[in-house]
Amino acid sequence: MKSYISTWPLLAPELPFPRRLAILGSTGSIGVNALRVVARHRELFQVAALAGGQNAKRLAEQAGEFRPAVLAVLDDATATELRALLPAGYTPSILVGPEAYVTVATLPETDLVLSAIVGAAGFLPTLAAAEAGKRIALANKESLVLGGLLIRQACQRSGAVILPVDSEHNALFQALCGHADSNGAELHKLILTASGGPFRGRDAAFLAAVTPAQALNHPNWSMGAKISVDSASLMNKGLEVIEACHLYGLPVARVDVLVHPQSIVHSLAEYVDGSQLAHLGVPDMRIPIAHCLCFPRRVGLGMPRLDLAQVGGLTFERADEGLFPCLRLAKEAFAASPSHPAVLNAANEVAVELFLNGDIGFLDIPRLIEAELDRHTPLGEDASAPQLLEVDAETRLHLRRAAST
Ligand code: NAD
Ligand code: MG
Repeated sequence: MKSYISTWPLLAPELPFPRRLAILGSTGSIGVNALRVVARHRELFQVAALAGGQNAKRLAEQAGEFRPAVLAVLDDATATELRALLPAGYTPSILVGPEAYVTVATLPETDLVLSAIVGAAGFLPTLAAAEAGKRIALANKESLVLGGLLIRQACQRSGAVILPVDSEHNALFQALCGHADSNGAELHKLILTASGGPFRGRDAAFLAAVTPAQALNHPNWSMGAKISVDSASLMNKGLEVIEACHLYGLPVARVDVLVHPQSIVHSLAEYVDGSQLAHLGVPDMRIPIAHCLCFPRRVGLGMPRLDLAQVGGLTFERADEGLFPCLRLAKEAFAASPSHPAVLNAANEVAVELFLNGDIGFLDIPRLIEAELDRHTPLGEDASAPQLLEVDAETRLHLRRAAST
């Protein structure tokens, strides 16, 4: 499969303004930040559809402000609650259930889709948006981990392009724009930075006893619960290595990870001549979100500017894969087969949920994931979406049973 760089946004036709936007996961951390960007630049967007999960109150507030014609929620109870909360005289269509997200992702009246649902639930809507040729601002990294090949193939068929919202991949996008040759031969490697999370420098005895509240307390970023735990275990960086391999068409051996506790350098691209190009900024997701939603335009965001003198020092160190095995597991999964990452992702989602519920310890997360990876019989490159979703479902079921015995 050709490198993604060959089909990337610079080569795509300019998308006119105002852009007709659908947000999948508008009530989450990314969705809320995206609407803050939109609120500041109303003239650039027409919000066509908002899809939340079960948070009717927040979705009703957003819908009242932006008045999209289409809303989507997960279940009937949330839809009923939502309807009662909407302002008088405003009657959008309210779609219900998992299929509703695929509909929202492919509405003919939208051209830009922000994929910001958390977890594997984002996969089918993102794949559908890719098949429909949409411009996709992608936050939902799990969809690339689960079925990155299928999404890339769909983009190549339809002309859809993906703009990465994830701060590291957005940083790389900016460091590659206008620099990398179209076949990627001048690129030596990518370097993803990681904050190291709340447990950087701790030992195994400490990690064995950490609580969900400690894991949720990220030093630099304010994010949803699942990605916060992933950051603490370094699984987030593991998922991001896989995400980078798909987005930029590189093998896992050409994607390095560097711990950078200040979270100011968001990642680096290294070229064959030894030049490393980095992207720097304050750790605030509105920067990469706005870059994706407005690309190639840049807009003001009204936030404190980066003051490097005040930051003082930027430090870098290697990741400790012995203490944080999730990073190693993710790299091994990507190298093992096209379906191992689906196992990794599903096992991680369930393990994180069990940890947050207090059912397992923090160090059980990598242990349970590794056991699922070890027992998996791999599928080939031709694995279909239903087959990968079956792997996902079977892994979830098996891990839950294994964790309860
Ligand atoms: P979040 O938990 O704050 O929000 C998740 C959103 O998805 C909510 O709108 C929720 O209603 C919706 N949702 C949850 N389950 C759903 C389901 N089964 N079906 C439909 N909708 C569902 O999560 P977040 O922190 O905003 O993260 C969203 C995605 O963005 C994740 O994939 C995450 O890895 C990625 N991401 C987040 C950040 C960040 O700063 N928060 C940074 C980089 C990447
Ligand atoms: Mg990230």
